[in-house]
Amino acid sequence: MSDFSLDLNEDQLQLQKWVHDFSESVIRPAAHEWDEREETPWPVIQEAAKVGLYSLDFVANAFGDPTGISLPVVMEEVAWGDAGIGLAIFGTTLGVVGITANGTPEQVGEWLPQCFGTADDVKLAAFAVSEPDAGSDVSSLRTRAVYDEAKDEWVLNGTKTWITNGGIADVHVVVASVDPELGSRGHASFVIGPNTPGLSQGQKFKKMGIRASHTAEVILDDCRIPGRQLLGGKEKLDDRLARAREGKSSRVQAAMATFEASRPAVGAQALGIARAAYEFALDYAKERKQFGRAIIENQAIAFKLANMHMHIDAARLLVWRAAWMSRAGKKFEGAEGSQSKLYAGETAVWVTEEAIQILGGYGYVREHPVERWHRDSKIYTIFEGTSEIQRLVIARAISGIHIN
Ligand SMILES: Cc1cc2nc3c(=O)[nH]c(=O)nc-3n(C[C@H](O)[C@H](O)[C@H](O)COP(=O)(O)OP(=O)(O)OC[C@H]3O[C@@H](n4cnc5c(N)ncnc54)[C@H](O)[C@@H]3O)c2cc1C
Repeated sequence: MSDFSLDLNEDQLQLQKWVHDFSESVIRPAAHEWDEREETPWPVIQEAAKVGLYSLDFVANAFGDPTGISLPVVMEEVAWGDAGIGLAIFGTTLGVVGITANGTPEQVGEWLPQCFGTADDVKLAAFAVSEPDAGSDVSSLRTRAVYDEAKDEWVLNGTKTWITNGGIADVHVVVASVDPELGSRGHASFVIGPNTPGLSQGQKFKKMGIRASHTAEVILDDCRIPGRQLLGGKEKLDDRLARAREGKSSRVQAAMATFEASRPAVGAQALGIARAAYEFALDYAKERKQFGRAIIENQAIAFKLANMHMHIDAARLLVWRAAWMSRAGKKFEGAEGSQSKLYAGETAVWVTEEAIQILGGYGYVREHPVERWHRDSKIYTIFEGTSEIQRLVIARAISGIHIN
């Protein structure tokens, strides 16, 4: 008898049903409105907080599941309802992962509750790495953090861009350079609390998709924070910088460690969009009649649906494998995290486009959600590492050659 199983356990099945029910009854009905308004859906986040879906406990349990599968299951179900609202609810986890990956236990204990607030007073968090001139090339970021020893404070200056929850979050985790000569090895993460002078929101972006999720610039202008808000602490940083200056190996750069842990969960969101579009197209193809028969009775349409179903299943297997590997502490020798995000992201774009084709003109108008799902899907080939960057990571992993 083997222990191997791809079945969800009882707890996971219950969790999946609970999240699905919320997604179906609260998130999906709100999706069109908040896509049109292009605003943060506060009432939906508050509702999620009220039922416990938006809470530190919930996220800690999902992350803590020993199989690693609960988190992608949750992400898939939420994004099935709506990816924009899903990101408005779970964008906070980017900041949470940034704190957990780099903070001391005391910092984690102090800041994580502040990322969520309470059901009556909801708070958000953000994770700010990207800059106007540092997107895929994180090593070139220019935001500087300088230590003012006399006051035991860090002073941050720079502009972050494309930041989910940027400027509206209560807790911003910011990656900045403390030693530009060391490139990404001179980066450190800082946590900035609510109403800190010197941190402000810049431009808010009008986007193609996931429009219920707030994306904006974050401006840091002589933003002073207490020394203890350097994640990981000064001693550890000094140690790491000294090793880097001596050319010795040091820890994976702060930003990369965070993205690595979150890739399968991002892939799972793409999967949720793809599944939503596939299900909608399948139902439509059975109903819609042309030439006296349902359009699904034509192989041209039925084979599209067969392929959509197969690619969604394949994406889910890649996502679950990477999530399981990450939780089990396995080494991603074949860049399995990148594979999962790349494949799920591109599957979502392709499946949603096929769904539009199956709906014909009805797929192209806002009366049906399929055009929104296609717009939403595109971000999954761009953020958390573009598809090209994922291919670079995979190509380097399988070849052992530093391909450019
Ligand atoms: C809606 C949204 C939300 C986001 N949220 C956050 C957030 O919360 N926090 C955060 O820090 N960032 C966030 N981002 C930023 C996101 O991670 C970046 O957009 C992404 O990393 C790509 O960077 P870039 O846009 O500067 O593109 P660039 O890096 O300029 O890339 C442009 C093109 O060149 C390609 N390219 C670049 N380098 C190479 C190479 N070496 N080989 C091959 N091709 C290459 C890219 O794949 C892409 O096709 C968000 C972005 C968006 C749009």
